[in-house]
Amino acid sequence: CSQEGLPCPSDSSELPVSPQVLACLQQFKVTETQLRQIQASLLCSMEHALGGQASPASSVRMLPTYVGSTPHGTEQGDFVVLELGATGASLRVLWVTLVGNEGHRMEPWSQEFVIPPEVMLGPGQQLFDFAAHCLSEFLDAIPMDKKGLQLGFSFSFPCHQTGLDRVRQSGHGDSGWKVCSPMKAIGGLIQVFCPQSTLISWTKGFRCSGVEGHDVVQLLRDAIKRQGAYSIDVVAVVNDTVGTMMGCEPGFGPCEVGLVVDTGTNACYMEEARHVAVLDEDRGRVCVSVEWGSFSDDGVLGPVLTTFDHALDQESLNPGAQRFEKMIGGLYLGELVRLVLAHLAQQGVLFDGCTSSALLTQGSILLEHVAEMEDTLCPSSPLAGAARVHAILQDLGLSVGASDAKLVQYVCAAVLTRAARLCAAALAAVLSRLRHSRELQMLQIAVATGGRVFERHPSFLSILQETVMLLAPECDVSFIPSVDGGGRGVAMVTAVAARLAAHRHL
Ligand code: BGC
Repeated sequence: CSQEGLPCPSDSSELPVSPQVLACLQQFKVTETQLRQIQASLLCSMEHALGGQASPASSVRMLPTYVGSTPHGTEQGDFVVLELGATGASLRVLWVTLVGNEGHRMEPWSQEFVIPPEVMLGPGQQLFDFAAHCLSEFLDAIPMDKKGLQLGFSFSFPCHQTGLDRVRQSGHGDSGWKVCSPMKAIGGLIQVFCPQSTLISWTKGFRCSGVEGHDVVQLLRDAIKRQGAYSIDVVAVVNDTVGTMMGCEPGFGPCEVGLVVDTGTNACYMEEARHVAVLDEDRGRVCVSVEWGSFSDDGVLGPVLTTFDHALDQESLNPGAQRFEKMIGGLYLGELVRLVLAHLAQQGVLFDGCTSSALLTQGSILLEHVAEMEDTLCPSSPLAGAARVHAILQDLGLSVGASDAKLVQYVCAAVLTRAARLCAAALAAVLSRLRHSRELQMLQIAVATGGRVFERHPSFLSILQETVMLLAPECDVSFIPSVDGGGRGVAMVTAVAARLAAHRHL
């Protein structure tokens, strides 16, 4: 099992396992050779997209974010942050106070709202109206001065940010925006900032009509105006990976990679601007959002995809798209486990050959369940662990036999371990890219990590770390958990954007 030097927590050697179970677990193994092929192909896809060559929708996207430097820690002020898309069916609003280098960090106020399923799949205007409603409900409840509110919008979907700065013309109100030429090196922090972001395609569980191909900042502004309760200036829009990277605690040295594994997965990193063909810049660095979820090189992913991955893809909202994300993102891990368990039950090797309507229902096993069940493999509290697995399975209407709980744990471990290894291959590609573009023998770097897969499943990080060391031995990586789920980083970007806007009015 520990073939080719890989860690293997899903070792099933001590189980009285049937050939059907072994065959299932075996499908989730990814060898070191396969990981190296994925790493190389991803790197190739990244370089292709950076070079500006037309890329198929199945390759990585490499979207410049126009954030030109990591924070200096001097940013100050009060900011509202609206997060949409990072944690699946919920939306978060935060009030973040940045105090600069001096003084202590203040805990943000925050509130989470559940987005109803019909809103996630309905007209776009309904989604943005819902967001504006949540914003005003949150602001109503907090004891702050609400004049001159400045908002940072964390929108966690692939978006094109145009490389143009936009300036409000006096007397034209919100609709009077004029396109100006890019600004450079103001304050040395952010070279160009553009509060305009066009959604390329929905990912994860969203599919609202009338948003793809449109500027999501404008849609939010319009909704805030329709709502009418507060006057809020949307000054920045960022991907969650950028918020994660920018919010990294100072003190670890510059943090130049942001890695998110939540409902979906993605990373951003600081690239030399001269290598980003669409920018036409020859100096400095720019943060690029890799969007590796859309990576789908059949040649290297084909052998890794299982029958369960194909079934999951077919039943998803976006068949054929985001194939890499569907093996790693938290939205899909529970579903993969469900499909395997249903198959094993139908084969007669689990639950006495019986299924239940819950087990046969899409989405009935969540990331939380998988993490809880797999965690209990840890021998610290075996009795409580087994009882927890039984409880979860019984809630699904299943009759659990003596050996079932252990087998279910092994299935969870196999799915999670594969996800961590694939994520490591993608991260190793980013690190190799960074090392080559900076012409370094050895790269020393901090990677900010965020998302519920890291939070709820500690061994995800250890498998990721071990595998990155194997695939990118010339990189010395420190993994730093994100602060406030990335909210502080979004506030940092907002602070700089707000300062740039103020400069323009002088
Ligand atoms: C989105 C990315 C996002 C990632 C993590 C993916 O589905 O395309 O933009 O960063 O999920 O939330």
